[in-house]
Amino acid sequence: MLKLKHLIMSLGCLLLIIACNSSHPKINFHTKLLKVATDPTFIPFEIRNTSGKLVGFDIDLMNAIAKVAGFTVQFESMPFDGMISTLQAQKVDAAINGITITAERLKTISFSRPYFKAGLAIAVREDNQDIKDFNSLKGKKIAVQIGSTGADFAKTIPHAKIITFNSGPDFFQDLLNGNVDAVISDAFATLYAIKNSNFKGIKVVTNLLTEEYYGIATPKNSPHLDTINNAIATLLANNTYKQIYQKWFNSEPPQLPDSLPQN
Ligand code: GLN
Repeated sequence: MLKLKHLIMSLGCLLLIIACNSSHPKINFHTKLLKVATDPTFIPFEIRNTSGKLVGFDIDLMNAIAKVAGFTVQFESMPFDGMISTLQAQKVDAAINGITITAERLKTISFSRPYFKAGLAIAVREDNQDIKDFNSLKGKKIAVQIGSTGADFAKTIPHAKIITFNSGPDFFQDLLNGNVDAVISDAFATLYAIKNSNFKGIKVVTNLLTEEYYGIATPKNSPHLDTINNAIATLLANNTYKQIYQKWFNSEPPQLPDSLPQN
């Protein structure tokens, strides 16, 4: 008799939980699967750790976005160069890869609101006294990642000999070996590589070359953009963004604009 009473009570509780959840808009039992492209060579934004797991600032942020927005994320690894055409062909729902929002890219894809303040930096060997700024790059051998904003920037340097690499950190080895004079790439990734990888003997020239903002890229006018933007706003307001930033960069995040001119 007692057992039956317990059973009835447990059933009642279960029904109550189900009823509460179904009236709660944020709990969704049939979450939408979001296919998200990334190239896990852009440290510390996306890396494959020694046990093969994807980790990084972008990965934490995307997972946090999915949690508030009620998505299930499925990451798909692919080379950075080619990600924009994959988005254009709508083979994935989004891409997160420290992708800079640029006017050129906005012609073919869309971006979320900015989620990271970044910029390009010049990296040289520690003993280099000669390269200090944009002007001193003239005519030099410069390494860049194919398809990146660093590669676009390098094209503006008069008489520079540009050497392209498929993925990020490889070019630092060529810099150390003396095969190139400088690397132009994203400052945070460069500083992180110097500090945490085996690239001792490289320094970053102090002034950044550009001010850039990363956004989550989607196919043009994706129906998921509003949801992603609202989720970023929530994470900025509830301190989750700050915690993720501090975890990876050990510092306070800067203010972010809520939008950039989308032209
Ligand atoms: N921020 C740079 C760009 O968008 C580089 C990104 C990357 O290498 N993943 O071009």
